[in-house]
Amino acid sequence: MGLIVQKFGGTSVKDRSRIFNVARIVANTRKAGNDVVVVVSAQGDTTDDLIAKAAEISSNPSDREMDMLLSTGEQISIALLTMALQELGISAISLTGWQAGFATNRAYTKARIKRINTERLESELARNRVVVVAGFQGLNRSDDITTLGRGGSDTSAVALAAALHADRCQIFTDVEGVYTADPRKLPKATKLKEITFDEMLELASLGAQVLNNRSVELAKKYGVELEVISSLNPVPGTIVKEETKVEGMLIKGVAKDENVAVISIMEVPDVPGMSFKVFSMLAQRNINVDIILQSSGRENNKDLIFTVPLTEAQTAVSVLNENKNRFGGGEVQVSTDYAKVSIVGAGMQSHSGVASTMFEALFNQGINIHMISTSEIKISVIIDKADADRAVTAIHDAFIH
Ligand code: ASP
Ligand code: MG
Repeated sequence: MGLIVQKFGGTSVKDRSRIFNVARIVANTRKAGNDVVVVVSAQGDTTDDLIAKAAEISSNPSDREMDMLLSTGEQISIALLTMALQELGISAISLTGWQAGFATNRAYTKARIKRINTERLESELARNRVVVVAGFQGLNRSDDITTLGRGGSDTSAVALAAALHADRCQIFTDVEGVYTADPRKLPKATKLKEITFDEMLELASLGAQVLNNRSVELAKKYGVELEVISSLNPVPGTIVKEETKVEGMLIKGVAKDENVAVISIMEVPDVPGMSFKVFSMLAQRNINVDIILQSSGRENNKDLIFTVPLTEAQTAVSVLNENKNRFGGGEVQVSTDYAKVSIVGAGMQSHSGVASTMFEALFNQGINIHMISTSEIKISVIIDKADADRAVTAIHDAFIH
């Protein structure tokens, strides 16, 4: 018994029957004697549909009006879910983000929550009501509606759990939890009982789209333990927390990311400051550089090779070509036939041989590695895109089975 925050994603409330399914989960939690605050996303593809509607009117709509538009999606969900709860005889009330006290900074379409004024929420809870809050939205200092960026409802839920000192924060979704690999691609992937915030952050940025990245950062910052569970299948999910048992698994997941392009700048003069020039140029355009390789010099030249998200490759290449004279005019090449395959696990900090096991698995498959990068809890390799699925299976087999 306590205060529980339950968040439901768009697929979990996409139609009438799913809404009643959610209402029953909430009702059962309430009937078990808990106070419940629910956070919901827009139904199904509503947000995408609204974005498409805006595009019919303008190729460059203002961010303020986009937020005005997108925030309506969540408003539909909270009203419908609250009606469903009332149908089930549960006392409930819906609140928009601003009614629930979400104050954000000014940044339309990617606002950050600054504080939550929980007065209204607490008074509704005191009246024994389930409170259904619209995720993804708040109000800035000009009293304008803001949204938190795609997938932002997770962040709303975690922020609420922190502000209300909730006993539990449950993130309901259409998968059963966090898996050791994408279960749609690798059916033998297994569901994790637990994962640390840091591991989850690495996996999220590697493309395991279960939880929004910022929500995990926030959960880590405020120590909000998360439970990722299915809204359709009442089985235990995955707990995301600061530390997991040491005797747990060495590797928590294998992830594949095809959103990578490899850029090479050939024959850059081998003098101090060249890398600084190249990468500051890219940073100024907000291009995210990931793995960097520098070939050893020959004839006072070197090659700079690095990866960027595929979606940013075109911008990167134009920036580099426009400024060629600043780094000696070397040829800029881009290749998109690569994928990044990574393993993540806090256990590799205290165990040796993890990298060699991964490389052996690739060698056994005759897969060539082009680039390698490591962090304390992650090892990534860049390989040919055509080899990626085979690589995931082989590495998964080596560590998890
Ligand atoms: N509806 C918003 C989106 O689709 C927020 C969310 O789903 O968390 O991005
Ligand atoms: Mg959504």
